[in-house]
Amino acid sequence: MLRIRDLTVSYSVVPVLHSINLEVPEGKIVTLLGANGAGKSTTLKAISGLIKPVSGTIEFLGDAISGRRPDEIVKMGLAHVPEGRLVFPGLTVIENLKIGSYARRLSPSALKSNLEKAYQLFPRLAERKSQLAGTMSGGEQQMLAIARAMMSEPKLLMLDEPSLGLAPVIIDAIMDKIREINELGTTILLIEQNAELALAVSHIAYVLSVGEVVLSGDRDTVAKDRNMLEAYLGGGKQ
Ligand code: ATP
Repeated sequence: MLRIRDLTVSYSVVPVLHSINLEVPEGKIVTLLGANGAGKSTTLKAISGLIKPVSGTIEFLGDAISGRRPDEIVKMGLAHVPEGRLVFPGLTVIENLKIGSYARRLSPSALKSNLEKAYQLFPRLAERKSQLAGTMSGGEQQMLAIARAMMSEPKLLMLDEPSLGLAPVIIDAIMDKIREINELGTTILLIEQNAELALAVSHIAYVLSVGEVVLSGDRDTVAKDRNMLEAYLGGGKQ
């Protein structure tokens, strides 16, 4: 579904990603692991058109997407939930959700049906339609950010550290939702620093270190490589 070849990205002149290769097959959950500053968020930003790569190719469903505008990429079926959720704090839940479908220019009936799907997936949001997003808990804001991305009917959903700053019980609930979204047919590219958590839900994993892919494979192969994981991710979280 997504194929990245020799992707190099720099901020000003400093290279941050060095010729990385990555593939996301349709129907799978693929995790991109890596320590702080490894380049995970930069990879997602390059895919969704927020940063222009220096070189390399990014293909989504067979079309080259590097250089396209972010809204065009959303329209093609690729949605990005950024690190820190970035919900609109002064807007209500329903207003945030409607913004998620904006790039698709949906008909009123499609919009209504997507809102219903979002509320089915996250009943908590249905109870809080009129609440300002900025007054919701961290976990609820994460649910809203994911639901907002789903409003654009993505074929590929990219999630940047959805567990960040959340309590373990909330993280488990979010991970269950990620699995459910995948089982309902959406392919997922997930960023995580917590390897154990991510490997538990993923089919395939890549480990990024200082802008390079240093380990990749199916979940069990990567999980077994404890030495590599510890060397590249540091102790503690895996
Ligand atoms: P984290 O888990 O801490 O979010 P990450 O793996 O997502 O880390 P990135 O955010 O992609 O890492 O950052 C990779 C490198 O690029 C870091 O060295 C970071 O300081 C640098 N970087 C990120 N954004 C910018 C920017 N806007 N301008 C300059 N350098 C940046």
